[in-house]
Amino acid sequence: MKIHEYQGKEILRRYGVPVPRGIACFNATAALEAAKSLGGPVWVVKAQIHAGGRGKGGGVKLARSLDEVRTHADAILGMQLVTHQTGPAGQKVRRLFIEEGADIQKELYVAAVTDRISQRVCLMGSSEGGMDIEEVAASHPEKIHKIFVDPALGLLDADADALALKIGVPAASVPAARAVLKGLYQAFWETDASLAEINPLIVTGDGRVVALDAKWNFDSNALYRHPDIVEMRDLDEEDPAEVEASKFDLAYIQLDGNIGCLVNGAGLAMATMDTIKLFGGEPANFLDVGGGATAEKVTEAFKIMLSNAKVEAILVNIFGGIMKCDVIAQGVVTASRAVGLKVPLVVRMKGTNEDLGKKILAESGLPIISADTMAQAAERVVAAASKKA
Ligand code: ADP
Ligand code: MG
Repeated sequence: MKIHEYQGKEILRRYGVPVPRGIACFNATAALEAAKSLGGPVWVVKAQIHAGGRGKGGGVKLARSLDEVRTHADAILGMQLVTHQTGPAGQKVRRLFIEEGADIQKELYVAAVTDRISQRVCLMGSSEGGMDIEEVAASHPEKIHKIFVDPALGLLDADADALALKIGVPAASVPAARAVLKGLYQAFWETDASLAEINPLIVTGDGRVVALDAKWNFDSNALYRHPDIVEMRDLDEEDPAEVEASKFDLAYIQLDGNIGCLVNGAGLAMATMDTIKLFGGEPANFLDVGGGATAEKVTEAFKIMLSNAKVEAILVNIFGGIMKCDVIAQGVVTASRAVGLKVPLVVRMKGTNEDLGKKILAESGLPIISADTMAQAAERVVAAASKKA
């Protein structure tokens, strides 16, 4: 789960990381009030969307007067902001953050991520702040410095100081940078985050170290432990089909292809997508209905898949283990009728109550194309989708 910059900064502030004073708002009048109450002479009007690269896309503007605050707020609110992280359609701006302008001497980069290989939290830093870090990693990998934190020891002062010096924090500001890195690590750890990125982290003219941006990602599997973070969720920023799926406890991710897939089990879902690609097709989604899917859940899953206008054929691939094939078959039949299915449907099922499942499908009278193996299923669904196209 992602949150907005202003929410991310609130978390950082709680862990002792200095951030500029700022106020979030939803309209231009409130933006003006916010600027007045912060006081001048310089403000920054910042679009709040769940994507980075807002500055380059015109979503971060400096204002030197209250008039300019209003002009920028009017221009940014409601705009379709396109950045390298939003895709070409962009994201509509519904919230603003009005912040006091900072006196930037240096722009640096720091972030905490989970490193799967060392199974530790990795703190990364670079002197190249304000830039796209993927670009830095590609062109100047030597400019990215890392610490893999031992969970039993936490972040040591000496390691934090060494990282701060490597990324160009002036000696006098190292204690301030140490506090930032330790706060960042602690916040990341305690919130079960998967990414906490400060880009840029700045050194100000008077030597303070301040977070000017905050990008957070949280591990959804741990959200049950963090009701305060769940409260920050902004459904406007999420894919509507994915939001709908999460209500029914379905693991759904929309993709770019035209073949809808309904599968039980994440591993089988991945393998199904691979097999579709092997036969020259493109999956329209990842969908794992889980182990305990009911006919109702399958119906919802069908509705969500079909809400994607690109879907031209559907492949249902089920392994009946705990899940029984007849239950899924019943679900598929009910769902196909309920949604008035108009695209070709290929079903492959194996395992518990397979024969009963196949009988239900055959007797339903629906034009279901059945398949015995995964290869056959993939081949048939790819053929069905291309015929439609
Ligand atoms: P994004 O990463 O989405 O482009 P940032 O919050 O990093 O958005 O802002 C982009 C740039 O705007 C920063 O690199 C910084 O140069 C400038 N900026 C952002 N906030 C402030 C601020 N409060 N004061 C001065 N400059 C700022
Ligand atoms: Mg940034």
